[in-house]
Amino acid sequence: MINLKKDEIKSNYSDGQSRDLVIIGAGITGLTTGLMWLKNTHDKKTLIIDKNSYPGGYITAYQRGDYVFETTQLFPDVIDILDYLDIDLNLREFEGTYMRSLVVRGDEVDEYRIPVGPHNFAEYLMELFPEDAKKVKKFIDYCIDLFSQVRKLKAFPNLKDMIVTPFVAPKVLVNLNRSYSDLLDKFGFTNLKLREVLETFNAFSGLPPDQTSSIIATGAMMASMTKSFRTWGYFDEFPATMSKLFQERGGEMRLSAPVEEIVVKDGKAIGVKIAGDDSVIRADKVVTTIDPMVAMRGLVGDEHLPKKYVKRLDNTLMSPSSFNVALGLDDGVDLKELDLDYPFNVISTGLGSMEKLYDGFLNGVNNISKDCFHAAVVCPSLTTGAKNTITINVVPVAMENWNEWRKNDKKRYREEKEKLGDFFIDIVEKHFIPELSRCVVQKDISTPATYARYSGSPTGSIFDMATTVDQFGPRRLPMKTPIENLFQPKFAYGIYGAMVNGLQVTDLMLNCTVNDGNSLLNPR
Ligand SMILES: Cc1cc2nc3c(=O)[nH]c(=O)nc-3n(C[C@H](O)[C@H](O)[C@H](O)COP(=O)(O)OP(=O)(O)OC[C@H]3O[C@@H](n4cnc5c(N)ncnc54)[C@H](O)[C@@H]3O)c2cc1C
Repeated sequence: MINLKKDEIKSNYSDGQSRDLVIIGAGITGLTTGLMWLKNTHDKKTLIIDKNSYPGGYITAYQRGDYVFETTQLFPDVIDILDYLDIDLNLREFEGTYMRSLVVRGDEVDEYRIPVGPHNFAEYLMELFPEDAKKVKKFIDYCIDLFSQVRKLKAFPNLKDMIVTPFVAPKVLVNLNRSYSDLLDKFGFTNLKLREVLETFNAFSGLPPDQTSSIIATGAMMASMTKSFRTWGYFDEFPATMSKLFQERGGEMRLSAPVEEIVVKDGKAIGVKIAGDDSVIRADKVVTTIDPMVAMRGLVGDEHLPKKYVKRLDNTLMSPSSFNVALGLDDGVDLKELDLDYPFNVISTGLGSMEKLYDGFLNGVNNISKDCFHAAVVCPSLTTGAKNTITINVVPVAMENWNEWRKNDKKRYREEKEKLGDFFIDIVEKHFIPELSRCVVQKDISTPATYARYSGSPTGSIFDMATTVDQFGPRRLPMKTPIENLFQPKFAYGIYGAMVNGLQVTDLMLNCTVNDGNSLLNPR
């Protein structure tokens, strides 16, 4: 029998009380915020509310027949935060190869094996591209330094911090307005094949290199390749463990409860309302971790917001979505033997593809074709030991007509899902798993409409607000909203970003007494 840990978490709230803090969303940002807050305030009354019947948001696992599928692939190096919060997880640390990457151009295929660890990565590239060895070494040393300077940066600087920032974090400052491709240009990378390998890391935000913030792309490189993990069990045990701890420490959770209003009075958030319930759950502070467009426009309403902020919302771009093909395979397939036991097996059409796909996303269409695609193949069952599963994770994907088809033309929705699913199964069959289509026992396909439904983000955005250069750093919607006592920790995405968001917002609400205003964990 399959036991999913997320199903063990039940609501434990009681009606009629006022709370010190209400958190909307039981994803990783909401759960981290709840645990951080309780650790540092002890007996404060804290309630986390989620519309779904289980915690975890985008980080989840689900059963189809005899198979368990998961959304997440990789657990970055957030061990310091896990330890700080006493989150005890049994993690597998990946060693050796971090990513096997195939770049396909017609019948020509280049294969790369990106190793774990930035220094190993540098050596690998230096061997592969000896004429660029010096540039590679300088670049990786620069990225390591840049990432270490982020640690010295204050998320909530006072005047003194602002004065010292140019001295303690000069690389962060010069990169604030720089795209990843500008950073690659600065190091003089002109060899197209080398650039292709280095551009692996902007794909982590579903953006092309000329749009991605250089800090986000190098941060993704450092945070995920320095040390990378996944749970030995199904991925839902991560949010389930956090939820259990939160409840044991006195926190309350209310599941299956969509918030429909953040109640604002005289410019202050005073509580929230759940759909179908007229009463207000009163709170001194409210934290929203859901899609910022929905939270600020739908739950608060433009009428409560300053015009300048509404204009910022008008100009905010949410990130692309994804298309996921989860397959349960018959027991005869040996995925380890097929050399697939890595955090990621990436297959793409290389340079220029992200630009075309992103362009399509901006225009509301999908430019996926046999000459233009980007997908990762992961094999969770090689770690969990469960029945054979693989997931083909495609990014970036536009909402296109997926929502429309799902709502008004179920037959077309199913046909389009199958068509695109088969397209990617063919690719994986050709390059990774011979005769794959004949080994499929169970298939479950997620489209942008699936992500929209489960997350509540109408655009099905899987990377939150897009981390383009002009939506990064001080130009991102701030955690402190224009509504007093309402906070929105959406500085970054991914497990790393979500946990740092929870840390920073707690520090902000508690006047920097938790983390001294630091951007990464460095508690007092
Ligand atoms: C397919 C996929 C694969 C991924 N793989 C990885 C990976 O390998 N590694 C990694 O680090 N990151 C990965 N990510 C990204 C990562 O999962 C997310 O960035 C992160 O989980 C976001 O957490 P969050 O809490 O900010 O938001 P969410 O997970 O979106 O949580 C928000 C919660 O709010 C709830 N909610 C929404 N509206 C309401 C409402 N009105 N009332 C009440 N509740 C509401 C939702 O139900 C949800 O539970 C992946 C994402 C996807 C989709």
